[in-house]
Amino acid sequence: MSLKEYARKRDFDHTPEPAPKESAGHRKQIFVVQEHDARSLHFDFRLEVNGVLKSWAVPKGPSMNPEDKRLAIETEDHPLSYAHFEGTIPEGEYGAGTVRIWDHGTWEPDREHRNVEQSLEKGVLDFFLHGRKLDGEFILIRTDYPDVKNSWMLQKKKDDEVVTKAYDARKIPAEA
Ligand code: MN
Repeated sequence: MSLKEYARKRDFDHTPEPAPKESAGHRKQIFVVQEHDARSLHFDFRLEVNGVLKSWAVPKGPSMNPEDKRLAIETEDHPLSYAHFEGTIPEGEYGAGTVRIWDHGTWEPDREHRNVEQSLEKGVLDFFLHGRKLDGEFILIRTDYPDVKNSWMLQKKKDDEVVTKAYDARKIPAEA
């Protein structure tokens, strides 16, 4: 059964007990792209999967042009709350530099990829983004180039949202 009864009996503004955690069934999963001006500028692409942010560092940033295959290096999972983080990581700390939210929104897997963990395990995830800049269908494919560990390829799939001219995320300002 659901946690409705638990929630109905309690006012979480007044009790220290935990509110039921929203599940993906009750709200849409989020994605965020953070522009990270660290040792080298890159874009951190993060998808909410089962309560964490699955993360990839994309050196050139995502593209809305389906001809672009963008290297995406899988990095460690981040907490969901990281999706709201913007600020400066001090010198000497891991990832020192400025983080800004470049795009954010919701996402969902393609029907064939409803089991996202399994799709990621297999190395192919077909999905839809609903952001301000990134919109429509994308695919992530594990490539495992011998010289780049944990490497994936991020590519826009052809649909009505594509951009056919050159697309450079580095030239598109982060959100204000
Ligand atoms: Mn980063």
